[in-house]
Amino acid sequence: MRACVISDIHGNLHALDAVLAAITEEAPDEIWCLGDLVGYGPRPNACCRLVEREAAFSLCGNHDLGVIGTIGLDGFSDDAAESARWTQSVLDPDARVFLEALEPLGVREEAGLYHASPVDPVWEYVMSPEAAAAAIVTAPERIVLVGHSHLALTFALADGRLAGGLAPDGTELDLGAADRWLLNPGSVGQPRDGDPRAAFLVLDLDAGRATYRRVPYPVAATQQELRDRGLPEPLAVRLEVGL
Ligand code: ZN
Repeated sequence: MRACVISDIHGNLHALDAVLAAITEEAPDEIWCLGDLVGYGPRPNACCRLVEREAAFSLCGNHDLGVIGTIGLDGFSDDAAESARWTQSVLDPDARVFLEALEPLGVREEAGLYHASPVDPVWEYVMSPEAAAAAIVTAPERIVLVGHSHLALTFALADGRLAGGLAPDGTELDLGAADRWLLNPGSVGQPRDGDPRAAFLVLDLDAGRATYRRVPYPVAATQQELRDRGLPEPLAVRLEVGL
């Protein structure tokens, strides 16, 4: 199994198009999506359609659940809640049906997939070594895939020692070098690790290798769509700095 893993698309169609073009060149067996297809971004319906068509497996995230009304918007920031309410107002029936069928966790081959974390699949941000260690010991799977923080991250547990941190473009892992792994591919549509390019992960379970990838996309086109729809300006500004 050779999978390309995507996460946190957030209605950014131009970023998703760029990632899917790069994934086509990788020719994986499957595409896996870790959730948050919508929220923040201006093209939620097109992103849902593309993920439904292209991904073999998809989770939902907290923004998807907020938009379809499974969870309330109380825990959302003001800009996130405003964009979620706008997304509710434009969401197609087909996209809603697709999102309503998704779960925030699942299993694919030897990998456990969680939108946020094995401890709390909807809300916990795994960014610190302590949170990564708790996630790794909670999950039954050897390889844990999470999204939600919008940071490309890798943590490895080998001989009882945990090591890891940010995983910039081109980071390559030998998955045989540690007992347990926690990997976050980073975000397609709203990166927050200082690299504004769209992120994905190539996970080759047969070869025991993982590679972190970033691809440029026309940020200005998504910013224009955000402004055309009257969505909060900070959501446009953050895309060009990747924070
Ligand atoms: Zn997200």
